Amino acid sequence: MAGRVVRRAFKFRFYPTAVQAEQLARTFGCTRYVYNRALAERTRAWSQEQRRVTYSDTSKMLTGWKREAETEWLAEPSKGPLQESLRQLQGAFDRFWRKQTGYPQCKKKGQSKDSATYFSNCFTYRGGQVRLAKQAEPLDIRWSRPLPEGAVPSQVTVSRNARGQYHISILVEDTITEPPSTDRVVGLDAGITSLYTLSTGEKITNPRHERADRARLVKAQRALAKKEKGSRNRAKARLKVAKIHGRIADRRRDYLHKLSTRLVRENQVIAIEDLSVRNMVKNRSLSRAISDASWSEFRSMLEYKADWYGRRVVAVDRFCPSSKTCSVCGVIASAMPLDVRVWACRCGVVHDRDVNAARNILAVGLAVAACGDGVRPPRT
Ligand SMILES: [Zn+2]
Repeated sequence: MAGRVVRRAFKFRFYPTAVQAEQLARTFGCTRYVYNRALAERTRAWSQEQRRVTYSDTSKMLTGWKREAETEWLAEPSKGPLQESLRQLQGAFDRFWRKQTGYPQCKKKGQSKDSATYFSNCFTYRGGQVRLAKQAEPLDIRWSRPLPEGAVPSQVTVSRNARGQYHISILVEDTITEPPSTDRVVGLDAGITSLYTLSTGEKITNPRHERADRARLVKAQRALAKKEKGSRNRAKARLKVAKIHGRIADRRRDYLHKLSTRLVRENQVIAIEDLSVRNMVKNRSLSRAISDASWSEFRSMLEYKADWYGRRVVAVDRFCPSSKTCSVCGVIASAMPLDVRVWACRCGVVHDRDVNAARNILAVGLAVAACGDGVRPPRT
């Protein structure tokens, strides 16, 4: 079976040597400086002269800054990450102009994640080792899974988070072999009491450890609130909160990766509800459940994996009354408060609220897949 080529990012933890850590800290400082200074130049040109500064303008400015006596240290790190920093700024402005985000903000030390991106001319990957430009030693990477065989990394991003951990994200071109097509289809309801409910009746709960981690987080946040502002203990307490946050997010992402891979492998069509998270978060009792469920992240995992494996994700209109409609006879119940978990239809069927909703989502999804926005063209 012929495979398809896709770009994938693989993220690993790594442990820099003291020399590397120092060098990375300087590189991060330089990328931050370049970003902020280019942002200031753009802001000034616009507010004083109504002139738009482009990426290539800022690139020329950077060359000049490296020659200035007081910023000649900018010439020290590899130039790739500095260029990339300017490109990121360009991206931030593009999103601003498309009205997707607010005006770009400057990067503050310790508040935004430090990162630096190296393109293929600024690092080498040989014998399973990554060596960054201007570094003598390869990075000590914990390879939690192998890179695909024969993979050629085209770009790497190293970062340092608020917990002081270093990660490297390696972008490679990977060949994916599609699994054989299947007749299986599934509907998915994003739930409140369980994380997701499948139309098969299976209920997927929150990841293990989550409850204990939550309790720890609450405790750490309380401790933080009691610490005196600006004190050393407060900084320590803040780091602890960040660590627990990070662990919850890591574990949940890992869990959702496994779940999305499984669902996409097992099913040809996956019908989901096109939830508007923004609308639902207004209801405070739901807000935590929604954010916990990381619905939008999960949805995007399903969508890109479906694309890899030749499967289809169909998002069903969120106004379709999936909870209130009987999936057997089609009658719509008049009201369905959120605390009703089980209900009996006039036709005699007793429904689990979430399983019924998942079945309705599947039915609408299949109808959309059959006649809706076109059929996916066959792959060659
Ligand atoms: Zn019924």
